[in-house]
This record gives sequence, structure tokens and C-alpha cells, in this order.
Amino acid sequence: MAKYIFVTGGVTSSLGKGIVAASLAKLLQARGLKVTIQKFDPYINVDPGTLNPYEHGECYVTDDGAETDLDLGHYERFLNIPTSQANNVTTGRIYQTVINKEREGAYLGKTVQVVPHITDEIKRRMMLLGNSGQFDVVITELGGTVGDIESLPFVEAVRQIQWELPEEDCVVVHLTLIPYLKSAKELKTKPTQHSVRLLSQEGVHPNVIVCRTERPLNNELKKKIALFCNVKPDAVIEAIDANSIYEVPIKMLEEGLDVIVLKKLHYNGYSAPDLTKWNVFLDKLGAPKSKVSIGLVGKYVELQDAYKSILEAFVHAGALNQCKVQIVNVHSEHLNAKNVQDKLKDLDGLLVAPGFGSRGVEGKIEAVRYARENKIPFFGICLGMQMAVIEFARNVLGWVDAHSTEMDASTSRPVIALMDEQKKIKNKGGTMRLGAYACDIEEGTLANSIYQSNQISERHRHRWEFNNNYINDFQHAGMMTSGKNPANGLVEIIELKEHPFFIGVQYHPELKSTVENPHPIFVSFVKAAKEYAASHGKSVKQTVEKQSA
Ligand code: GLN
Repeated sequence: MAKYIFVTGGVTSSLGKGIVAASLAKLLQARGLKVTIQKFDPYINVDPGTLNPYEHGECYVTDDGAETDLDLGHYERFLNIPTSQANNVTTGRIYQTVINKEREGAYLGKTVQVVPHITDEIKRRMMLLGNSGQFDVVITELGGTVGDIESLPFVEAVRQIQWELPEEDCVVVHLTLIPYLKSAKELKTKPTQHSVRLLSQEGVHPNVIVCRTERPLNNELKKKIALFCNVKPDAVIEAIDANSIYEVPIKMLEEGLDVIVLKKLHYNGYSAPDLTKWNVFLDKLGAPKSKVSIGLVGKYVELQDAYKSILEAFVHAGALNQCKVQIVNVHSEHLNAKNVQDKLKDLDGLLVAPGFGSRGVEGKIEAVRYARENKIPFFGICLGMQMAVIEFARNVLGWVDAHSTEMDASTSRPVIALMDEQKKIKNKGGTMRLGAYACDIEEGTLANSIYQSNQISERHRHRWEFNNNYINDFQHAGMMTSGKNPANGLVEIIELKEHPFFIGVQYHPELKSTVENPHPIFVSFVKAAKEYAASHGKSVKQTVEKQSA
């Protein structure tokens, strides 16, 4: 029998519920429990795959091809275990299931209602992973903020589960904000009191209050929160701002979040947490010996969440290399042949980001050309790889109008073309080539030396693909196709022979990078950037001076 922990949020969004949930999960895992985390989102999209990154940040993809909330990325990065379709559920998916059942006649003769039909379906899905027998503990993060109209059915489902389960099988952790008022020079507990009251009105009484705060909470304040929120003082946990999200598990350990939860769940005799690998990572992260500047060329750079997994993969790879990776955002829409030199000249590596549609693609192509010609370490992901193919076709093969049919359906050289299986697809939701596919890697290539393997599996999210009709032209001119899908020959990796580090991948390696398993391409790319910086005479000092100038 699994036990259940629910994490709700109050006062405001963006308090870092996902990080607190992942940190708690990490601590329980470090104490030997089998833990998974799931996210329930109150919006009506069936999944976030159809959402613009500006709305929702990055869309994270699981091995089994689910398009999910970016918090699942945090869960995987912290726990080092994969998530799946079952780990992310939206209101849209709940309603879709209930409505489909209604059409099948499953509720024949009955009025289908939010309570009990929608709430029952929410409950069924909340318990699904717990019932699989794979986990001791299932942590469920509720998206949104308590008090939102749309989160009511989810809170009601939690209320019912809390009532149905033995007391020691269910814990509710409420994350809230303790704002500091400068004028009063005081931390204020009232918004927290109100949000706990709101949650209680909806029938859910939290067992633990986690307080996000910029300043330490003293004992008196903790007591006050405890008294008015009806919990014991040791169930009030301070979550002070951290320098890195990866420090949060340690801070939560110091505050005793895991211990209070274990007590409530009646876990006795739990072992001391083994955080050896985690601490080695933190030590390296905190003591970089060098520094590189890497340009992230994309069109969503204003919104950091749009490239969340890429940024985190650089944190993991940087720590392993004991190198501080400074990400320099390069807006692809503002990049052109005239300014490219000026904008990119100080960078030690260039990553051209994934994306959709034509906005900013010419800037990406310019960035690729600059990296190729100047032998700067280059890493293209998905659309970034496709741009590398187009750039090569235009500037090396001399096919001036080469393009992807995504951007130019009438190009005479469709070097990137819609995959056959995509041609008949009309619906947009969940219909891309999604999830994990195998890839065979050719011996003696850069990819081979990076992965130290001939067969890998990576996650995908795309419709367009390298056009194999041109494969010989590319190979003769020096662009290798070093990785292919063994089943259908789709090109998954390209690289350049005459370049120290130039790799493009059709898949999304960033999705599989974790603290304990940094992704090998990111690790090698940072290493290549370090070597580039060293060979160009840049010392750490110079780089630091340049950035603070
Ligand atoms: N738009 C491109 C495609 O669908 C690339 C997708 C991506 O970068 N994720 O093939």
C-alpha cells in the first residue's frame, strides 16, 4: 500500500511548489523509500503540448511520449528516475475521460456531475501510480493556487482521499508565502493564515506549512503561524530563498521537512539520508575552476522557463566540468549577417535552440554559419539541428533557397521535410513524433566518442526531419549523419568532419540530463567550450571582468 502526500499552494503562484515537492521526494528517496511525483494541472488543455512556451514555459516530454508540464523535468532531474504519461494530468484529460465514458453509456440513466463523477476520475488518477505497487510514496503536486475556481474539484478530491485513507497514509503539505514588508520591517503571516483558512473552508486541513520567505523566520513567528494555522510548531517549515534550486533539498533536510512527514506517515526506523552523490554535485557546483560563456540562440529567450531543461542540463554539465557556464541569451530574431560577428564574438560555444515556425530562423542560420566558419563549438537541438542542415545546404552545397518545408513549402531544396507518417495527420494535440526512440551511432564519430556507445535512446518532439534524398550530397561535402533510427533510417545526429565540435541532434538530450547523470553531449560541449576558451587565451579573470563591465 502506497502512502500519499499532497502539495498545495497558497497566496500566489510561482512559489516553487515543484521544487519543494521534488526536494521532499529526494529526501524520502535518500532515506530508502521508492517515491514518485505527479502533477495535476487545473487547465482545460488535454496536455500542455498545444501551449505556447510564453504561456507555459517548456513542454517536457517523457519516454512514453507524453507532453507534460515542466515540473516533471524537475522531478526527473531530482529523483533520477523517469516519469510517464500517468505523472501529469489536466482538467482537460479528466473531462475527456468522463465525457468519453458518458458517450459509451457508462453512466446510463444518470446525470453526470462534477461531484462525484469528475472528482472520482481525479481520485482514480491520483491513486493510479500508488496502486501500481511500484512505489512506497506518491507525491501529488496540485497546480494553481488554493482559492482558484478551477482547482476546486482537485481540492475536493484531496479532501475525500484524506477522509477515506487511514490518517497515517495521507499528508497534506501547504506551500505559502511570508512576505517581508520593508516599510514595517516585518515578515507578515496574515496571507498565510488566510490561505490556510481558505483551504480549510474547502475541507482540507494541511498537516505541514512550508513558508517561502526572503528572511529567516524566528521561533516566535513559527509559533504564531502554527497557532493560527492549527499545526504544531515543528510542522512549520521555513523555505528561505536559495542560490540554486539544488540546495533546496539540503535546506529542507535542515528544517526537518522529511522527518515531520515521515512521522505523520508513521514511518518508524527510517534510515539516515544518503545524499552522497547530491552533495558531491553541490560541492562541484559551488567551486568552479573555470568559466565559459555559451550563447543560447532562440526566439523565446525573454522567458527562461521556455528553455528550462537546457539551462538545467548546463548546470549539471558545468558542475561535472567544474566550470561555471554563463548563458548569454541571443535573440534569434535580432541576429543577422551584419551584426552576427559583433553579437557572438565573445562566446565560447553556441547552442541553437529548438522551436517551431519561421520567426527567428534566419538568425539561427546566421549563428550556425558563424560557429561553423569560426570553428566555435556548436550544438543544435531539434530545430537547431535542422538549421545546421539548412545552413550547410545553402553555404557549402550552394543551394541558396534550401529550407525546411515547415517555413517554405515551395523551396526547390527541401533538405528538411515533413515525415511521411506526419503527412496524413490533421489534429495538432499529441500527434508529433513523441517520446523515446532508439538511435544507432556510427563508429569513429564524435557522437560515438561522446556517448561511448553504439546504441542510445533519446526523446523526440518534432514533425519535420532530415530529407534522406540528399544524404549523399551532404556526406560528400563533409556533413556526416552519425546517428540514425535503426527501424526507419531517420537521421538523428549530424556532425561536421572538419570542425573541433559541431553536433546537431534531432532529439532533445536536455530532457534526460539529471543531477546524478548529466547528459554526455552537454558535458562534452562544455568541455569543448572550455578548450576553446583556453585556446583563445581567455582567462577566468578576463571573462569575469567582461561580464561585470
Ligand atoms: N519545428 C520543428 C519540427 O517540428 C522542430 C521541433 C523542435 O525543435 N522541437 O520538426
